Amino acid sequence: MHAKSMKQSTLKQKVTLIGVGLHSGTKVRCTLHPAPAHHGIVFVRSDLRSIPHIKADITKVTRTDMCTTLGTEGASVATVEHLMAACAGLGIDNAAVELSAGEVPIMDGSSREFVDAILEAGIRQLPAARKVLRLRRAVSVRYGDKRIEALPSRKFAVKGSISFGHRLIGDQIFRYSVSAGTDESTATSFVRELASARTFGFLREVEFLHKKGLALGGSLDNAIVLDEERVLNPEGLRFKNEFVRHKVLDAIGDLALLGMPIEASIEVHKSGHELHAAFLRKVLSDQENYEIVELGRERAVSSAEEFAPAFAHAY
Ligand SMILES: [Zn+2]
Repeated sequence: MHAKSMKQSTLKQKVTLIGVGLHSGTKVRCTLHPAPAHHGIVFVRSDLRSIPHIKADITKVTRTDMCTTLGTEGASVATVEHLMAACAGLGIDNAAVELSAGEVPIMDGSSREFVDAILEAGIRQLPAARKVLRLRRAVSVRYGDKRIEALPSRKFAVKGSISFGHRLIGDQIFRYSVSAGTDESTATSFVRELASARTFGFLREVEFLHKKGLALGGSLDNAIVLDEERVLNPEGLRFKNEFVRHKVLDAIGDLALLGMPIEASIEVHKSGHELHAAFLRKVLSDQENYEIVELGRERAVSSAEEFAPAFAHAY
């Protein structure tokens, strides 16, 4: 999403991942297919008779508790954020994501396996200019002590911070910024710094959720789990500050629901999916906040042309 290549891209060929759904605990098959320019990332529920297509777009967000869920006309797709982050981090603008269930498999709780699959399939540039959303003025959203603040910038940067009363987490800050010129260099930073940071939870919450029949697929295979004292995963942490890195990864995945990279310097503090969605809606609610630019032409595309139809009903 923060890649600076002028052209859009997709996968060279299809690639399939099989994993469990975090919510259902059942096996989910997920195939990423190449797609043409201007297609965007679109989820396809091939398990349903009407084969609904659900575009990865902020206007399709229906739930933000525990994960980001998209929906349309009775069909939904949950837990899209780590796959969206992988696409954004590698500069994939267009793909059809075929699913055998209503959720993206959780894999190892990070973006790593999606990244590996996309790199295995290969990335193909398309002969169409990439559009970006360039922030024109500061936009922020606060819920109590949670906040997200964005400033105009020609670089893409996310500074994440968290504060937990657990001795292994405490206060953590991580700054991710992309200034280099190509998708390849952006992808390298993303893969090295963020892609393998896993989601996390506390044992007491996991036990509570399982009792309620929720997060049935959640296990030490797809999340860092902590008790009061320590990390229960035998392999330990992948980074000392894996927790805040994962929060930055989540922000990147949710911000990708703009459907194009955003040019802004963003700070997220104790943030989550709900706040990310509220932020995107706020940015798009006022056309003075942004312009849409075609890279290589540096021509502002009318923001009204881009978003007014989709948002007319939302506001
Ligand atoms: Zn996450």
